[in-house]
Formats: sequence, structure tokens, C-alpha cells
Amino acid sequence: MLISAIQKTTLLDYPWKVACIIFTTWCNLRCGFCYNSEFVLPEKIKEIQDFIPDNIFFNFLKTKIWKLDWVVICWWEPTINKDLYDFCKSIKELWFLVKLDTNWQNPKILRKLLDDKLVDYIAMDIKWDYSNIEELLWVKIDKNIYLESIDIIINSDIDYEFRTTLVKNYHFLNVFEEVVKQISWAKKYAIQNYKWWKTLDKNFMWESFTSKELLEFKKVCLKYIKKCEIRM
Ligand code: SF4
Repeated sequence: MLISAIQKTTLLDYPWKVACIIFTTWCNLRCGFCYNSEFVLPEKIKEIQDFIPDNIFFNFLKTKIWKLDWVVICWWEPTINKDLYDFCKSIKELWFLVKLDTNWQNPKILRKLLDDKLVDYIAMDIKWDYSNIEELLWVKIDKNIYLESIDIIINSDIDYEFRTTLVKNYHFLNVFEEVVKQISWAKKYAIQNYKWWKTLDKNFMWESFTSKELLEFKKVCLKYIKKCEIRM
């Protein structure tokens, strides 16, 4: 795995559960609002000197058997790593629970991980409604892949969430309503505010939504999905 950083402890991902977070490197999307372009753009990744070898991570994990519950594998897009399957398997062999964050682009690996019970929670990004999404992400998108990933996750027997980073001037309430309506059978949705001061594309440096505005999005979401969280 191309591990760029490890956060050794967090309580943020699960109340009452302790997790560590692994940050991978590289992404197959180019969201203009992405706030970690140094781990996404190849020309910036080249400047990273100190990737963390797998054995260092696993040595750390072995010292935490009684102290951590979960390992969160997240940004920038973990499913690009060809050894993700084996990596998750090794974590499960140490009896940790695994949470995977993904942007949906690799449904095959999602299916394989779920079939073999190597993940316990998936958080999938819903970038936006498909009529506008390519302008937002800078890459060509295959809608079938997106729908397949949603289908795999919703029909799995693990917990999951869908989530959207809301960006001013792109995300409007009426379109948001259509987006959540399409997945109204989902268990949980999270709304995230974007960090306007550090974006991959400088044209996205608009102010973030206020808490009051995000609450309006939450209200719309709750019309269709039972559980909705705001993350600032
Ligand atoms: S926001 Fe996420 S999916 Fe988009 S480019 Fe950044 S890391 Fe990739």
C-alpha cells in the first residue's frame, strides 16, 4: 500500500470505539474542491519522500491489539492499490474491524472485499447528480460503475454511509433532493462542508456553507433517508 500517513488514534469515526487511520496516496478523480492535492496530483506525489512501509504499519498495529477496535483506510482512493485485498486480509487476521472510504470507482474490489468479509463498514462518496458531475470532477465518469457500487453497498450486510462534500455554487438544494431521493433506501447519509481555503482548483475558492445552510440540506435529506449527519 502507498501509505502516506497514519493517525494513530481517533474517536471521531465511531463513538466509544477507538480507531487508527491510514491515509493512502493517489486518486482516480480530480475533484476541484479536493483539499489534499499533494496526495492526488502525480507531480506533487513525486515530492513525497517518506511513504510508510506496510511492515512498519503492521508492527504498530500488533502493539495495539487491545487498544484499538478499528482500522480506517481512507483517502485518497484506497481501491487503486492493487494489494488492498491482501492488506485488509492481514488486518482482519489480527482481529481488527476495517472501515473503507471510497469514491466508488472500483466496484469489483468492493464486491470481493465484501464477499470475503474483509470490510466491516464502507463510506462512499456521492459527488453529485450525473448531469453536472464531470465539470466538478475533471474526469469522464461511467455512471454504471457508480450505480453498481451503490447497489453492492446497499445490498451488503454491513453498515455503511453515503456522503457528499457540499460545495457552494455547485450544490443546490433542489438537485440535492433529487440525489438523495434516488438512494432513499440508504441507511445513513453524511453532509460534509468543504474547506474553501485549500482546494485543488483555485477556481473553487468560494466561501463554505454556513451551519444554517447545511441544516437546510439536512432537512431535505431527512425527508428520504432516516439518518443524516452534518460534518463541518
Ligand atoms: S476529494 Fe477525494 S475523490 Fe476527489 S480528488 Fe480528492 S481524494 Fe480524490
